[in-house]
Amino acid sequence: QNVVNKIAAGEIIVAPVNALKELIENAVDAGSTSIEIVVKDGGLKLLQITDNGSGINRDDMPILCERFTTSKLKVFEDLESISTYGFRGEALASISMIAHLTVTTKTKDSNCAWRAVYADGKLVPPKPGQSADPKPCAGRQGTQITVEDLFYNTPSRRRAFRSSSEEYTKILDVVGRYAVHCEGVAFSCKKHGESGVGVATTSSTNLVERIRRVHGSSVANEVIDFEVSNTGLGFKAKGMLSNANYHVKKTTLLLFINGRAVESSSIKKSIDAIYSTFLPKHGHPFVYLSIDIEPDRVDVNVHPTKREVNFLHEDEVIEIIAAGIQERLAAVDT
Ligand code: ADP
Ligand code: MG
Repeated sequence: QNVVNKIAAGEIIVAPVNALKELIENAVDAGSTSIEIVVKDGGLKLLQITDNGSGINRDDMPILCERFTTSKLKVFEDLESISTYGFRGEALASISMIAHLTVTTKTKDSNCAWRAVYADGKLVPPKPGQSADPKPCAGRQGTQITVEDLFYNTPSRRRAFRSSSEEYTKILDVVGRYAVHCEGVAFSCKKHGESGVGVATTSSTNLVERIRRVHGSSVANEVIDFEVSNTGLGFKAKGMLSNANYHVKKTTLLLFINGRAVESSSIKKSIDAIYSTFLPKHGHPFVYLSIDIEPDRVDVNVHPTKREVNFLHEDEVIEIIAAGIQERLAAVDT
């Protein structure tokens, strides 16, 4: 059983960035307006994420890291949204299978914070001889998740990571995506013990301002807004596009579907095709695109590690978005 769980966990979390993405989504789902991330050794030694969201009830802590523990399916009909949000209640369980996991959390109604340590899905004593029960401690409202020594029990996988700077780059990329997307949430991400930050944003509700914080003024000064929707196909898309006279070295596509950062090679291809008709040979666009599709039409996480999405009527939806982008670019004279 344990071996099976460990294998399942290793399929969900193949690199530190997979764990971090899950933890960011949890913090966002908890209504946080501040999310601070500290990373050591590309996340392999330490991934710590501190939010100011709802916190977790003391009584829920013993089962927090059991598989399929989730507070996000309250009624039976909600099962439909499994297709939207993918595997439910697997993230913390998986992380506890392959790392040392400590959770410190305080809800608004609790008069103290509670800290607990997990291994293999269960509460464990922080030190030998101690009780495994959550311990009261000081703390502010919100949750701090500390993930240490990722893949400590699968040394071959641990050894496969040669460069921690490569992992850190992937982490900054994901944090940057959510920092642009999440209105009203301030993000920071830095290396442990260093003062310089990799990503630092404010809780601004202004999308261009968030792009400026993450991608710089040169990009932020050249974007135009974009919006298209279609009730028949059950979707809405909005975002920001670099204008026709501006380009970056590599296509930057920040794509969100139903609030989750995902990849779609077909959307990327169609955007590249539009811009290639007027950009210079080595010029590429910057595009932030957030698509909301009716939950029963989309399969965001076909598999947790596959960030590629599938949705119904994909070709038609992409065609409408592409036409909208084309029209918007043509309408703006820069
Ligand atoms: P899921 O997000 O699919 O529900 P997870 O394993 O990611 O599953 O998290 C399990 C549960 O733990 C969540 O449903 C939520 O109730 C709680 N939780 C996890 N992280 C946080 C957080 N940062 N703040 C508040 N609650 C959290
Ligand atoms: Mg989750």
